[in-house]
Amino acid sequence: MNVLTGTKLAIHGGPKSVPEGLVKPWPLIEDEDRKLVLASLEGSNHAFGPNCVAFEQEYAAWNGVKHAIATNSGTAALHMCVVACGCGTADEIIVPAYSWSSSVTCTLHHSCIPVFVDIDFETMNIDEEKIEAAITPRTKAILVVHLHGLPVRMEKVLAVARKHGLKVIEDACQAHGAVYNGRKVGTWGDCAAFSFNQNKCLCAGEGGMLVTNSDEMAAKARQLWSFGETRAPSESRDYHVYALGWMYRMSDLVGAFGRAQLAKLDRNLQRQRENAALLTSLLREVPGLLLPAEPAGCEHNWYNYTIRFNMQALGQAGDPAATRTLRDKILKALQAEGVQTCVWQAFILPSMTVFRAKDGFGRGHPWSHPAAAPVDYAPERFPQAQRHCDTHTGMTTPLRYPNGPREVEATAAGIRKVMENLEQL
Ligand SMILES: *Cc1c(COP(=O)(O)O)cnc(C)c1O
Repeated sequence: MNVLTGTKLAIHGGPKSVPEGLVKPWPLIEDEDRKLVLASLEGSNHAFGPNCVAFEQEYAAWNGVKHAIATNSGTAALHMCVVACGCGTADEIIVPAYSWSSSVTCTLHHSCIPVFVDIDFETMNIDEEKIEAAITPRTKAILVVHLHGLPVRMEKVLAVARKHGLKVIEDACQAHGAVYNGRKVGTWGDCAAFSFNQNKCLCAGEGGMLVTNSDEMAAKARQLWSFGETRAPSESRDYHVYALGWMYRMSDLVGAFGRAQLAKLDRNLQRQRENAALLTSLLREVPGLLLPAEPAGCEHNWYNYTIRFNMQALGQAGDPAATRTLRDKILKALQAEGVQTCVWQAFILPSMTVFRAKDGFGRGHPWSHPAAAPVDYAPERFPQAQRHCDTHTGMTTPLRYPNGPREVEATAAGIRKVMENLEQL
């Protein structure tokens, strides 16, 4: 027990900092959600129906893009981006070494070869300065991820892309409403993918959206999206398969839910930003923490408020295993306090089995294709991504609407209590 504060950590039976039931779950369901979803249920088209068409138009208007295509997942939208950019067998696509798995497996879905670039530890995003060195004559595109809702510095990425004639894909699955240099993400690259999965800033259960300003890319994406046909389901179809296609369409119930949530998105994001600002101010003086950065020109949407433990300050720099052990110990104590936090992704992508094995479809495809060149996925080439993996913990729900100052203050109190009483662990 701390003699100064008399504070016993909850993990040792002390009082919890965040009482059970204080933090409200995500997303908040209101009358508008019920109205639209029930109207869809009573309607006559439950497949890709009128709510999906309206959702596409409303999302395009909200994001400031010409085309939006509603999909059954963000992953589907990412695969469609790869195809819309004209990427195919043995083409290389540059990707960050740390993200959600499907930011990278989407390239394999079209037999492309991912080429990893380490992250910038400060931003957790791809290190824009290291992209150019990864370009080869086979590179076709750069896929950037606005991780946790922090925009990548797109002007640097676009400059490299222009110089080498590459397409740019934005994985904006976590970044609804994030802004770089005054413009929303999703408007910077050639095309972009958003996700509406349960935990994302716009929740429709599952779902996604591809956005682009290019007529040609939208047409290519739509073809893949609906069985390889060249007409949308709403147009008269001849059911002829013109190219390899999947079935990536959204259902009308999801479209209705998505529309209802979109109408509230700006309100929800505004609260999230206020909550993040409050949390940052409350944690600034807490020892042992590295708080998330928001570099000049970048406006976070605070999808995931990610803290890294300052292992050097905690006397634990160097050995990754010991670092992880300490992080996990702190994490357990935080969770015992009722702080809703967890490790978001514990593995860097190049260390994952599918990339270690270099076998996606059997017989080593696509890496074994004669047109492919060898690529080096040795995990030690990505030290910043590894360091992030070993030292972070993330938070989503406590910052989400309708949670506000009370929930954020309790969360901050739990973090402060643990960090000021580490000798109890
Ligand atoms: C969630 C997510 C995806 C995948 O979206 P789904 O809708 O789950 O398929 C892709 N990339 C990132 C960065 C994500 O967070």
